[in-house]
Amino acid sequence: MVEQLKKIIRDVPDFPKKGIIFKDITTLCQDALSFQRMVDLLGHRYIGKDVDLVVGIEARGFIVGAALAYKLGAGVVLVRKPGKLPYKTHRASYTLEYGEDSLEIHQDAIKKGQRVIIADDLLATGGTAKAVVDLVERTGGKVLECAFLVELNELDGRKRLLPHKVFSLVQY
Ligand code: AMP
Repeated sequence: MVEQLKKIIRDVPDFPKKGIIFKDITTLCQDALSFQRMVDLLGHRYIGKDVDLVVGIEARGFIVGAALAYKLGAGVVLVRKPGKLPYKTHRASYTLEYGEDSLEIHQDAIKKGQRVIIADDLLATGGTAKAVVDLVERTGGKVLECAFLVELNELDGRKRLLPHKVFSLVQY
């Protein structure tokens, strides 16, 4: 089942800049059965784990995060690019595989002690997810695991997220 998901993710060479092979998950999302499989496989891992909230990272992480939250009967929290969230925020900066950016979370999005899964489409260097771990911890949330559809093994993002746990459905 995971092999089928791997096959349907499209490689786009040299996007958004030369040398990057972009893992395009739109081809997976637009295939009904693959999308359902992705959500079910992630969901089964966390059912019964008392997940209160799934934090989705803008933008593709919203798709994975919202669907997973629905499956778990959990709430969904949005982590967004600066200036997009209307209420008081915490902000964290990070470096990407291709650039630098910041992310924000509403200060009241997570209550102290709430059990959180962080969700995104892809783990590369881990900089993005690490910033989100910091944001969640600043609100008082407890990060149970970081969940990804795709993990790029050679960039070792998993190491950067230690001691937090990482799970990915598909690895390259
Ligand atoms: P990183 O912070 O290096 O782990 O990068 C992860 C973030 O950048 C995720 O939100 C991904 O959507 C995006 N990203 C980084 N590298 C790629 C790639 N090769 N293909 C698709 N998305 C990527």
